[in-house]
Amino acid sequence: MSIATIVSQSTPSGFSAIGVIRLSGDMATKIAANLSNNKSVLKHKKATIRPVFIKKRLVDEAIFTAFLSPKSYTGEDVVEISCHGNLHVCEAIITETVRLGARIAEPGEYTKRAFLNGKLNLLQAESVSLLINARSIEAVKQQTKNLSGGVTKKIMQIKETLLTILSFLELEYGIYHAKGGLGTVTERMGALAEELGVEICLNEPVEECLFDGKKIVGLKTGKNTYTAKKYVMNVDFATGMKGLIPDKLRKRWSNNKLDKKSYSCSTFMLYLGVDKKYDLDHHQIYASQNYHTNLKDVTENKITWDDPSLYVQNVCLTDPSMAPEGHSAIYVLVPVSNVHKSINWDEIKHDYRDVVLETMKKLGYDDLKEHIVSETIVTPDDWGERDIYKGAVFNLAHGLDQMLWRRPQNRFEELDDLFLVGGGTHPGSGLPTIFESGRIGAKLICSDLGIEPDWNGVDTWFPDLKKPKPKR
Ligand SMILES: Cc1cc2nc3c(=O)[nH]c(=O)nc-3n(C[C@H](O)[C@H](O)[C@H](O)COP(=O)(O)OP(=O)(O)OC[C@H]3O[C@@H](n4cnc5c(N)ncnc54)[C@H](O)[C@@H]3O)c2cc1C
Repeated sequence: MSIATIVSQSTPSGFSAIGVIRLSGDMATKIAANLSNNKSVLKHKKATIRPVFIKKRLVDEAIFTAFLSPKSYTGEDVVEISCHGNLHVCEAIITETVRLGARIAEPGEYTKRAFLNGKLNLLQAESVSLLINARSIEAVKQQTKNLSGGVTKKIMQIKETLLTILSFLELEYGIYHAKGGLGTVTERMGALAEELGVEICLNEPVEECLFDGKKIVGLKTGKNTYTAKKYVMNVDFATGMKGLIPDKLRKRWSNNKLDKKSYSCSTFMLYLGVDKKYDLDHHQIYASQNYHTNLKDVTENKITWDDPSLYVQNVCLTDPSMAPEGHSAIYVLVPVSNVHKSINWDEIKHDYRDVVLETMKKLGYDDLKEHIVSETIVTPDDWGERDIYKGAVFNLAHGLDQMLWRRPQNRFEELDDLFLVGGGTHPGSGLPTIFESGRIGAKLICSDLGIEPDWNGVDTWFPDLKKPKPKR
């Protein structure tokens, strides 16, 4: 695809010794050649004096300097024409370049192109405009520092440090294992809720939500219609929105907008029953030798056939109750692309399983294949069929543009009395965060209903949220 060539005057318009006109794009050097009626190739970073013709009439002599792609400010072919800074000369040259195929650049378009072509990051791109418009030498110094990448380097260092802290905490202090697997946490929470008088109706999916204008007023399942003062939706966010809330009731989270959001990766899973015990670590992560290519494959909807990264859990080392005596339950998770039309998992899942088992040899599972007595494979397509939008098991991706207030809020802003919890909502995906979404939702509901919660004596109320007065 050819990139439109843009032109503009880089120096102020008026009358001065020199005026600089800049061209950027695929046709920049060609337009410059036509302008000077000189077909000899402009060389990178080399300045040459050439005549400037407008409709075959000589109007000026100028210095032409080329900065060829990718080694230019925008990353495209750039030609700078330094002519005499006469208003009429500059205007005539710009008009002529437009006649020859360029178009007038939009404000900030050179810097936008530099950002889109990876020549500047966002902070540097913003700094360009701030530097140009800086009103004091101190402001100039600050923006120059940003532009030279000093602040970006510091931010990256902080980011790396934070990520290292997480790994350090897990390595140094360990993490908890819920005996019987994570499902027992949910079961225990359910049992506690029942002790408090909650009736839990399983195997009864909500088929329809009922509305009165912008207010949710009821739920229909295959068995019953339920009404309540407040409603909490825990189903995968995009699936719940698309399946249960009509598009016309949603603006911020319309179907169209949901489709444009970015979603996490998915996972290819092996759940293996094995007639052997392995004296290998509870958690092991194998990082592909081509780690970056592997990550790129995941985001570009490709499959890494050669040496994928994977996580293996040998749970029986810590919790023998997870398998019969002398046996093991092995859990293998391979991060892969979310559901995509170019990948048909049913066709390839058995071949991929063999690749995964082969890769596991590098973690010490040499003879695993001969000891498998039961096996379940779950692919992204399977997750997708289990109500997980695009099979993206970690839900809406955690980019800065989809976090904090940019994530679906726990008090759903588009409908009255509806609260959202789960990985696709604020604060985010991952079990601890998901439980936090439940706690935030509960606090909001308590505040609305005037119920003062008893958090085991710990006051975790939001300071800016109305706290109910204790009942006498
Ligand atoms: C293989 C795998 C490994 C993971 N590993 C980790 C990890 O190591 N650490 C971590 O923190 N996170 C991990 N996650 C992510 C995290 O566990 C999940 O994101 C989490 O389970 C999602 O919880 P949730 O409550 O948002 O959704 P879910 O657990 O999917 O709950 C949604 C519920 O809604 C129900 N439902 C759907 N439709 C309806 C309907 N119409 N009516 C009523 N109910 C309905 C579903 O049956 C389901 O029970 C992992 C996820 C997967 C799949």
